[in-house]
Amino acid sequence: MPSAFALFAKYTAGRVGIPITVVHPVTVFVVHSVTSNGDSWRGASFGLTADYVVMTPTGMNDDTTLTHELGHACTLMHRKKKVNLMNHSHTRGTSITSWQKWWFRLSRHVNFW
Ligand SMILES: [Zn+2]
Repeated sequence: MPSAFALFAKYTAGRVGIPITVVHPVTVFVVHSVTSNGDSWRGASFGLTADYVVMTPTGMNDDTTLTHELGHACTLMHRKKKVNLMNHSHTRGTSITSWQKWWFRLSRHVNFW
């Protein structure tokens, strides 16, 4: 049985072996659960190291987790302010700073301004 990483990498969009485009889509995998050190998470991203995020059904059905994980895929890091979209808690807000917008747009996953 392949590892989860190998399985996700195999089915990630845009992975054809030869780069034929400058577009780097992010694939969203919905899985039963995501745990780390005994904690259950609603989703996870591996940031720059993967072109995919994993989401639980609970995460897919709240207001911010998918966007938060896509933010990580586009290199955004956690912020301490609860109102910020990149706060770790699922009760986070939806605001982002101008700096975060600028940084997000520099990601290889974003091809519009
Ligand atoms: Zn996070």
